[in-house]
Amino acid sequence: MKKSTLATLVAVFLYLSLFPSCLAPSNSPTPLGDDFLTQNANTLPPKETLFPSFQKDETLVPTPTLPTYWDVSDVDISKLDPTKKHIAFTFDDAPNRTLEQLVSVFTAYNERNPDCIANATVFFNGVGIHTRSIPSMQIAYAVGFEMGNHTFSHFNLCNLAKEKLQNEIDETDRLLESIDGKKRHLLRAPYGNVNALVRECAHTPILNWSIDTLDWTNNSVEEICERVLSGLESGGIVLMHDGPQNTVHAVKRLLPTLKRLGYQVTSVSQLSKLHTCPLRIGGVYTRARKNRQ
Ligand SMILES: [Zn+2]
Repeated sequence: MKKSTLATLVAVFLYLSLFPSCLAPSNSPTPLGDDFLTQNANTLPPKETLFPSFQKDETLVPTPTLPTYWDVSDVDISKLDPTKKHIAFTFDDAPNRTLEQLVSVFTAYNERNPDCIANATVFFNGVGIHTRSIPSMQIAYAVGFEMGNHTFSHFNLCNLAKEKLQNEIDETDRLLESIDGKKRHLLRAPYGNVNALVRECAHTPILNWSIDTLDWTNNSVEEICERVLSGLESGGIVLMHDGPQNTVHAVKRLLPTLKRLGYQVTSVSQLSKLHTCPLRIGGVYTRARKNRQ
């Protein structure tokens, strides 16, 4: 036998010794397929014994974890100064007849005071959101107002069964989403009436107030301003309404006055971010005091 032939035979022998599966029929079942497991179900140990991770696979779909705090990561505070004092303005019962005037007052003030931009949160009732009111809401959102949820019908939520209550919140969120693209909005309960069920149904923090201007009682411009100035504190939240004409005049007067007193007027979410005061989902707040870290 030639040396080269001998070397070839040795190589073939070694290959077959190392890889015996090459000798097996090519149509052998693949022992890892699901079909194999099904056909041999009676003779094999349970699937989960063969593949200990099999049961875990079903948990690979992550369970959504609900947020604990209101997310302010996207809230713009770039034109605000965290070292100043801050107060949040809020307007309830929108959209109403003075929304466009409020937008004009804020816009005119901001044009004259680019170093001290003012903002606000406006709480809307779903029942008022329709073809005629949507354009003014879009303008309000475009100038920077935060859109808040004041429920659909303005019922006392503490008198409602769970399904109706949830619907009051969710339907308004859905309508507001068509304006600002956001799924959830800060909640202000009508009359500030909150119970355990309201807190359970809320998807966001619930905002009450530290200063009530009582502007809906036909208070004068002077009375509205006086109530704000006498209750002034950094982190406070002022309750006003979209509707009374005197509120528009009072805001026009208050914005420059508050600037002179070292305050910046903000939305609620801006206040929370500026003061590093996280707002818990379902929590009820009247103010957002500065959290000294
Ligand atoms: Zn209201």
